[in-house]
Amino acid sequence: MARKTQPDFDAPAFERTFFYDGPLGADWAPERTVFRVWSPTATAMELRLYRTGHRAEKPVVKPMAPGRGGVWEVEVSGNLDGKYYTYAPVLPGRPATETADPYARATGANGQRAMVLDLGRTQPRGWDKDCRPAFGNPTDAVIYELHVRDATMHPRSGAKNKGRFLGLAERGTRGPGGVKTGLDHLVELGVTHVHLLPVADYATIDELKPRANQYNWGYDPQNYNVPEGSYATNARDGAARVREFKTLVQSMHKAGLRVVMDVVYNHTYHAGDSCFSRLVPGYYYRMKPDGAFSNGSGCGNETASERAMFTRYMIDSLVYWATEYHIDGFRFDLMGLHDLETMNLIRAALDEIDPSILLYGEGWTGGDSPLPEARRAVKVNAAQLDRIGVFSDDMRDGVKGAVWDAVRPGFVNGGEGYEDTVKFGVAAACRHGSVRYSKVHYSRRPWAKEPHHCVNYASAHDNHTLWDKLALANARDSEADRIRMQKLALGVVLTSQGIAFLHAGSEFLRTKHGEENSYKSPDRINWMDWGRKAEHKSVFTYVKGLVALRRAHPAFRLPAAKQIRDALAFLPVPGPSVIAFVLDGRSVRDPAGRLVVIYNARREAVEVDLPRGRWHVLANANRAGAKPAGKPLEKTARVAPLSLLVLAAKA
Ligand code: CA
Repeated sequence: MARKTQPDFDAPAFERTFFYDGPLGADWAPERTVFRVWSPTATAMELRLYRTGHRAEKPVVKPMAPGRGGVWEVEVSGNLDGKYYTYAPVLPGRPATETADPYARATGANGQRAMVLDLGRTQPRGWDKDCRPAFGNPTDAVIYELHVRDATMHPRSGAKNKGRFLGLAERGTRGPGGVKTGLDHLVELGVTHVHLLPVADYATIDELKPRANQYNWGYDPQNYNVPEGSYATNARDGAARVREFKTLVQSMHKAGLRVVMDVVYNHTYHAGDSCFSRLVPGYYYRMKPDGAFSNGSGCGNETASERAMFTRYMIDSLVYWATEYHIDGFRFDLMGLHDLETMNLIRAALDEIDPSILLYGEGWTGGDSPLPEARRAVKVNAAQLDRIGVFSDDMRDGVKGAVWDAVRPGFVNGGEGYEDTVKFGVAAACRHGSVRYSKVHYSRRPWAKEPHHCVNYASAHDNHTLWDKLALANARDSEADRIRMQKLALGVVLTSQGIAFLHAGSEFLRTKHGEENSYKSPDRINWMDWGRKAEHKSVFTYVKGLVALRRAHPAFRLPAAKQIRDALAFLPVPGPSVIAFVLDGRSVRDPAGRLVVIYNARREAVEVDLPRGRWHVLANANRAGAKPAGKPLEKTARVAPLSLLVLAAKA
């Protein structure tokens, strides 16, 4: 390490002298391109221009000139659209190196060289008319978490461009038994947001071997402002991935779906060899006193969101995706490693584009961090975040058992003592007089100030699928009972306040065949097996009905904590493993007026006394929907074993 030559990046004087707020990256125009890169510790910098994105060739070299604030700059005349480039800094005490541009908007295959790109030629037809589907409050979101490749890789997905951006953009795809697949499936299910696992360029798939059946979730970030090449039809042409990802966004928008990107700014796949380290060693990362990388991500390093030029970098990157690609939301991986101030600056910057852009993240870290707990964007600090949600692991583990103990059940599958944990989730982790916080698993106090702070879910890409968890924790139960448990678990999520989140395929009993961490498992483990949708059509129809129920009734999506406290009252129940509540939806003009919801996690039917009046059945063990069906109930409701009941005062 050459730390002697490295300035004190935390000294205020450093940021005063070297904060640079001008343009960065390759600024293309038909007659010239200006290249700007920030490296205050370099003593010289050169630009290297290439004809191709990855082949060995002798570059054209242009020396760059130092400018204000630690920036290096050079203007090259001519039309450089389609040329590839790198920077080669001279850093005291360090070997010669070459790197892609952190501000690259496209790259060659495998992201080693940046690309100069006329973005105007990457627009799909009609892109100028593309707009975000209408959307109201953050709590109106029903999020569906999906991996691009998983969606269409199955041999019977019916998609032509399997595993690619364009595959998920296809309409009219059909699978076994004629079921809708891919994008048509998402529309049929009725969710509002499709949350894509990382689609920015990541490191561990060789993009030059598209037929090698490589798989990765994508939490190994390399170029933050470039779509991943293995999802493109041609990774060698840097423009293809840009155009094809825009085509996917456009197709989703046309279908009425908003698009959320999973973003992984908390660490980089390479540490000492990342573009950041090659340009300004030590600046972009939190380091230990001995000079080693701190590892709050559990992935070998952690970025320093609090350093001004990385704060700026994150904001620039997100603003770029939101404007150039019309992205509607961001999910922050290990958001607990980012500081609260940066997250709120991100909120403010995206508000200037569109305040309806949805923001949420993982309110935890992957290891210890030098960032003090009080500054971290973690769950316990969620109330200090401005319209940014965090995942409720309280609900996730309370509803079906802990992720860290595969055989441990939760509320819906035989666990005892989870009633208050589920009630905590029903109230979206906001303060509510009827939740006994001493009995809540994990949180001993409400951590959400408003319901948009709380993302409720039963399962996600991490850990076992919900169906696999039930297979492990409930091995002695019949498949019929486990199906009831799965429907009840999703019913709890979809009738709780806050933001609702579904793991792709949970609506048709997705299995990863017992694999827990499938981040690089083969397609046959990870893909959406559309045969299961045909096989478990009744489960799919039921979950679709629950989504429709939630979307038709604003009482499930109250925008403010005070409204929840006023509208939500828990009802007396005959014993443990039963929860009942009434929701007064009149303040939000719910067509039902008032709603009663009962969760029965017991293996026998229970009877619950109803508030006065006639109650129309919106959902029971067998069906769910926006409109009532069957005979109305009065005085008492009989709730079938392992099921939920939703009733409306007005038909
Ligand atoms: Ca890549």
